[in-house]
Amino acid sequence: MTNNAGELRSLPSVDEVLTRLAHLADRYPRALILGEVRRALDEAREVIRAGRKASPRPIEEVVEERLARIALPSLRSVINATGVVLHTNLGRAPLARFAPLFGYSNLEYDLAAGARGKRDVHISGLIERLLGKPGIAVNNNAAAVFLALKELAAGGEVVVSRGELIEIGDGFRIPEIMAQSGAVLREVGTTNRTRIEDYRSAINEHTRLLLRVHPSNFRIRGFTGRPTLGELTALGEQARIPVYEDLGSGCITDLSAYGVDEPLAVESLRTGVDVVSFSGDKLLGGPQAGILAGNPELIARMRRNPMYRALRLDKLILQALETTLRSLLMERWDEVPALGMIRQSAADIRARAERLVRQLGVEAEVVAGESVIGGGSTPDQSLPTWLIAIASRDVVALERALRGGDPPIVARIEADRLMIDLRTVFPEEEPALVSALTQALNRTQGGRSCS
Ligand SMILES: *Cc1c(COP(=O)(O)O)cnc(C)c1O
Repeated sequence: MTNNAGELRSLPSVDEVLTRLAHLADRYPRALILGEVRRALDEAREVIRAGRKASPRPIEEVVEERLARIALPSLRSVINATGVVLHTNLGRAPLARFAPLFGYSNLEYDLAAGARGKRDVHISGLIERLLGKPGIAVNNNAAAVFLALKELAAGGEVVVSRGELIEIGDGFRIPEIMAQSGAVLREVGTTNRTRIEDYRSAINEHTRLLLRVHPSNFRIRGFTGRPTLGELTALGEQARIPVYEDLGSGCITDLSAYGVDEPLAVESLRTGVDVVSFSGDKLLGGPQAGILAGNPELIARMRRNPMYRALRLDKLILQALETTLRSLLMERWDEVPALGMIRQSAADIRARAERLVRQLGVEAEVVAGESVIGGGSTPDQSLPTWLIAIASRDVVALERALRGGDPPIVARIEADRLMIDLRTVFPEEEPALVSALTQALNRTQGGRSCS
């Protein structure tokens, strides 16, 4: 590797770079600057040793840029112009605007009694009123599934249809969660068809739970079938084995009038399911959380399981969840952004789009399209919408410029045009969207001016 030696030697020393960055001393801690200089030099050496071409940029420039980036928040608000309401990459359900708690709180303090309280009280009454059954909340639905299996089935068997052994995004696989919980999976039926007799004949003295899983983001078409929920709960009752349903999205409000066909949590419980669980940040429209509700004794057992302590909610999440649940109970749908977006009519979105196009001052068309629910809800569900379609000489550069802006705007490209779906854009974000679009169009010299 002697041919690299010269190049390696030409790299500046740590001290040389530090001297060139002396002007940063009052902006960043010395240890941070030093760390970044070492990191950048290590990377440069790595590149040279691998025989790749070293960057022509001076090390101090790289370090200064990185320090500036480190000093800024990485997690920030984004304008979602994709029309995907529960966008997994954009934080699933959009957060409502509300003031987070400051300082101390009555998280576990009963102010009336002047004594120790439980954090559960802030949401338990709301869950019970919404679902008609008591419930608890944990970190997410994956945690809820884990806790349910652990408490209700560890050391025993869980009967589940082969067609429901799903994997949803980011490594959530029912069989793996099951293995971690210490419960043994008893698969029944085939991928596309399972009958109630399959469940019945799988039951033995080790069976602890009958599990039903919402197939979420996948759908088998054609010759398919599974028992009705009623058949399953009747079997559970007869065999004295609890039925647990992982609903995934867990619709709390009936959205069928808007074209969203998801099972309602309250319907499952009325059908006799002993325990349901679902996410807080899918169709519920709240923060990341997992809700478990149902039979009071089973819920109390899960609450007492030592794992609950490891999976419980932080006060900020609890506050956001409480706010969402109260809005749902009070039927103030527009306070839950995801629901407000789903309930918006195509005509309203069209009017907003036409108004925005007039402000843009570039040639743009308003065309019919489809928004999607996303977030692991049934994949073929879409909502009619109207899109702003912007032609540009370099649509890829336009999309990139919007993404790199402040606030960042995420939009999609379709047939060489930039598509903006206002369903997922808050009305208060429209002025920022207009100015970002105008600037980006000017910079990428894309949109043809009207004048
Ligand atoms: C989304 C989903 C989960 C996981 O929920 P998280 O809140 O993301 O942990 C589990 N089961 C089903 C059926 C789902 O759709």
